[in-house]
Amino acid sequence: MRILIVEDEPLLADGLTRSLRQSDYAVDCVADGATADHVLATQSYDLVILDLGLPQLDGYEVLRRLRHRGSRAPVLVLTARDTLEDRVKGLDLGADDFLSKPFELAELEARVRALIRRGQSGGGSLLAHGALTLDTAGRRALLEGEPLDLSARELGVLEVLMLRAGRVVNKEQLAEQLYGWDEEVGANAIEVYVHRLRRKLETAGVRIRTIRGLGYLLEKSR
Ligand code: CA
Repeated sequence: MRILIVEDEPLLADGLTRSLRQSDYAVDCVADGATADHVLATQSYDLVILDLGLPQLDGYEVLRRLRHRGSRAPVLVLTARDTLEDRVKGLDLGADDFLSKPFELAELEARVRALIRRGQSGGGSLLAHGALTLDTAGRRALLEGEPLDLSARELGVLEVLMLRAGRVVNKEQLAEQLYGWDEEVGANAIEVYVHRLRRKLETAGVRIRTIRGLGYLLEKSR
């Protein structure tokens, strides 16, 4: 799950980034509207948290351009003054939810979860590989109908492998799905997730094969 935070107050941006990363989201953060517009035009996110008062381009304009390009990514708008006029304008431009400052992090996180769920109920799908199914909207994997106990990152690895089953997936592709740009990706973090996932899938008849120097391949072992 990738989230873009667009916020020019460094303390708030930092606090949001840290708390969402603790919940295992891949978080990128930008501090002005022009950079946000550029990033949103070239990358895709599962959620955008957008401040309205921003240098260069304001949040309304960033939102207008995002929707104009046809993006349906959920957008949570942060407003300094919660006026009816702000909300009407935001809704007209395609905002999905509003939160007025100051707010509690717990409330922000609850709204983030709700928006991501809602965003996926339209685009979510059921991936299948042998006895294994992955519900991308419900964020869970099932083995012969029984839920598998996977962490958010293990689930992220499995999702990428299932989306590309039968093709080799390299570590960079996995890291891109799991981490924000400036997050330290430990040299062997991906290997650790793959290792754990491989163990949990051992009995499932699903094998993650390591292709030396290239990456990983999801196969059926029986
Ligand atoms: Ca601001």
